[in-house]
Amino acid sequence: QQQQQIKEEFIFKSKLPDIHIPKHLPLHSYCFQNLPEFGSRPCLINAPTGEIFTYSDVELAARRVASGLKKLGIQHGDVIMVLLPNCPEFVFSFLGASFCGAITTAANPFFTAAEIAKQAKASHGKVIVTQACYYEKVKDLGVTNLVFVDSPPEGHMHFSELMADDDDVITGDEIKIHPDDVVALPYSSGTTGLPKGVMLTHKGLVTSIAQQVDGENPNLYYHSEDVILCVLPLFHIYSLNSVLLCGLRAKASILLMPKFDIHAFLGLVHRHRVTIAPLVPPIVLAIAKSPDLDKYDLSSIRVLKSGGAPLGKELEDTVRAKFPQAKLGQGYGMTEAGPVLTMCLSFAKVPIDVKPGACGTVVRNAEMKIVDPETDTSLPRNQPGEICIRGDQIMKGYLNDPEATERTIDKEGWLHTGDIGYIDNDDELFIVDRLKELIKYKGFQVAPAELEALILSHPKISDVAVVPMKDEAAGEVPVAFVVRANGHIDTTEDEIKQFVSKQVVFYKRINRVFFIDAIPKSPSGKILRKDLRAKLAAGLPN
Ligand code: AMP
Repeated sequence: QQQQQIKEEFIFKSKLPDIHIPKHLPLHSYCFQNLPEFGSRPCLINAPTGEIFTYSDVELAARRVASGLKKLGIQHGDVIMVLLPNCPEFVFSFLGASFCGAITTAANPFFTAAEIAKQAKASHGKVIVTQACYYEKVKDLGVTNLVFVDSPPEGHMHFSELMADDDDVITGDEIKIHPDDVVALPYSSGTTGLPKGVMLTHKGLVTSIAQQVDGENPNLYYHSEDVILCVLPLFHIYSLNSVLLCGLRAKASILLMPKFDIHAFLGLVHRHRVTIAPLVPPIVLAIAKSPDLDKYDLSSIRVLKSGGAPLGKELEDTVRAKFPQAKLGQGYGMTEAGPVLTMCLSFAKVPIDVKPGACGTVVRNAEMKIVDPETDTSLPRNQPGEICIRGDQIMKGYLNDPEATERTIDKEGWLHTGDIGYIDNDDELFIVDRLKELIKYKGFQVAPAELEALILSHPKISDVAVVPMKDEAAGEVPVAFVVRANGHIDTTEDEIKQFVSKQVVFYKRINRVFFIDAIPKSPSGKILRKDLRAKLAAGLPN
């Protein structure tokens, strides 16, 4: 008789108890639950104009957009694309699409026309909401409904025309939405390959937001008196979820800032008495380095939250000393995870201290384990391995890519992050390395596979590998190891850099090119990225 071996699993949970999560609610109903009680509170403040929209204004604007989208023929399950900096129309579009059962795919408006085209085509975007300055990039995509939030080019629609009149506005529950319906479709390259559409559902986002801000003692204590600075781009799920949607759920005021600039940032904190500042490490660095902090009253800040990329312990200590009244801590997210995996419990209503350098503890109503990447067995405390998470907040899968989905979410429902970390004796997670290919420039994703495909299309190149190189300002920058094609010994670094920079958004530009005789590969043909990263760590190759 063969005895079945039972695998011992080391599973970690939050230090806080699980809570009830209203997963049956559509995302917009969850965000605007009990609206009559807080309808007159300021919801959005548009920093460039100072215009204020109350919760009732925002809810009505979203329903108007929903009705307008319906008139354009948008149906349940259709995709709209938003190409905007942070502004009220971004919020109205996203929530409007949610009300009509549609899906928003947002992209960086600085993307090149080719990058936008890839996402618009892959997601089958039927409407694009954008600004006139991006018209050239979207006019030939074959999308008939282009909506402009400023002066529309001839023959196109202004955003105000999209917003239906009062008598035509749909009610909140007119369109039936299933909790497993997709509502947001951010793009991410995940652990390998090209950017893919990440299907985040109503249930997933409601769960993720609840994990952060709901309950008696939330992981992340936002309250209705808070003013949250929304400077991180809403086209990234970190900002959309942890800043905007968590802010809405907490009935706080959200200050929309379209672009980071240190003086504007400090001025806004001073003028609007900002209490919560969700940031990424390069912005934390800019604040730490600013000689002007004394010129502003920044005493209102009570939470400085960093995520999206690792925050060095030294930087953390410097900022802590400059903002003694504020709690500073890190969160850890990954688009596919919904995105928040861990949070710093010093942000909880009843705070628990977290060590510098830690990314906090796993969110409530979720499970985390650390597995040996070779054997997939789970590891006990203090042993580094691949971080995995399970819970209702994770993605439904990649759009039209079941194979990539299967590689990322295993049969037992664990999402494999491609990040290496360990959990210590106090349940705190420390991230120590990245197994996956991804490069993070100031928190923005750069997919090596995308740049490799581009460089390989250069006729004088026969092989290439793109890997991250450490950089003080950006965290990481992409660099390329390149094999020249036969007879092309004159191909220069500049030639390759320029070839790439014409075709990609600024942060995907190749920072350095190293010529090499052959790209190191495994017997199965996989690029041995670790070897190339080790080469860089040992000193620049040439
Ligand atoms: P994205 O999907 O763009 O949010 O990128 C997710 C990836 O960013 C993660 O899988 C990590 O590699 C990295 N990341 C996010 N937050 C942190 C953090 N606090 N520390 C280290 N890496 C992080």
